[in-house]
Amino acid sequence: MYDLVIVGGGPAATAAAVYAGRKKLKTLLIAESFGGQSIVSADVQNWIGDMSVSGVELAGRFEKHIRAQESVEIKSPESARQISKKENGFSVTTDKEAYQARAVILASGARRRRLNIPGEAELEGKGVAYCSTCDAPLFGGKNVAVVGGGNAGLEAVVDLLPYATEIYLLEFSGSLKGDAITQEKIRAKKNVHIILNAKAERIEGDGMFVKTLFYTDLISGKEEPLGVEGVFVEIGSVPNSEMVRDLVELNKHGEVVIDHKTAATSREGIWAAGDVTDEPFKQNNISAGDAVKAALSAYQYLLARE
Ligand SMILES: Cc1cc2nc3c(=O)[nH]c(=O)nc-3n(C[C@H](O)[C@H](O)[C@H](O)COP(=O)(O)OP(=O)(O)OC[C@H]3O[C@@H](n4cnc5c(N)ncnc54)[C@H](O)[C@@H]3O)c2cc1C
Repeated sequence: MYDLVIVGGGPAATAAAVYAGRKKLKTLLIAESFGGQSIVSADVQNWIGDMSVSGVELAGRFEKHIRAQESVEIKSPESARQISKKENGFSVTTDKEAYQARAVILASGARRRRLNIPGEAELEGKGVAYCSTCDAPLFGGKNVAVVGGGNAGLEAVVDLLPYATEIYLLEFSGSLKGDAITQEKIRAKKNVHIILNAKAERIEGDGMFVKTLFYTDLISGKEEPLGVEGVFVEIGSVPNSEMVRDLVELNKHGEVVIDHKTAATSREGIWAAGDVTDEPFKQNNISAGDAVKAALSAYQYLLARE
């Protein structure tokens, strides 16, 4: 029986593990991988104390910091599938085993939302991409579509500007949702074409790479083809909260609802931090900070029950 199981390997899980280690809690950390979502970032410039660090370097530091904690055992790569309530705590079932713990911190973050349209899965990595920071340079001299007119979509357009020839930005609604300042920047570019009221329908390839994105013009009702060699899907993310779906309160987005003072969930003995929660600002520093609250709250909870 562990005192604490931490699920995750990003900034939230790292912070929770470091604080659990300092409190000498008998801890198990289960992580599919280390580093979290910004591992793909070429340059993270707002990790406090670091003016500039690559996502990969940051991931290495996270893993090293976790491994330095004597009381923290690590199972990675391993994936938590289900967390259930038991008499004296919780059972965490993974793809390999089941572990028992008195308390749990969920720091499983989020993953990119997919369009779920024909051709998307088949052409992933062959023109269909989810990370403009990582993949924009691969589209030099090519025509590219970005699906999603929120901040992520606008920033993808900015990332593509130095490389792509023509950039089509498709937004489902009648207006762009991202920051006005970024909108101004991309509207000033002649090679950026904003298509509103556009619903992506399917992606076709030539057997190898993306050739055409078809979308419905929601005003005319007509299906239109766009000749592109790349499709960046930038329609938000989905919290990795499936494993606690029946255990804690989730909001309509599937995010774990937490008390922002303590990071407690609706279930006594379970805390959550970072992008898996209803915290509105999804950032590395905030994820780590909320995880510190979670670890210290869990420590107090465990101490009171000894
Ligand atoms: C491209 C990109 C660039 C970004 N750049 C910045 C930036 O410059 N600055 C900034 O502050 N923020 C940035 N962000 C946001 C930031 O990355 C997130 O807010 C942060 O990573 C959230 O941390 P987290 O620990 O909550 O979750 P995540 O980073 O999502 O980490 C979740 C971890 O849990 C693991 N996991 C998931 N499911 C399971 C499971 N079932 N079992 C076991 N382990 C599991 C994953 O492998 C991963 O290690 C960026 C995000 C993206 C997508």
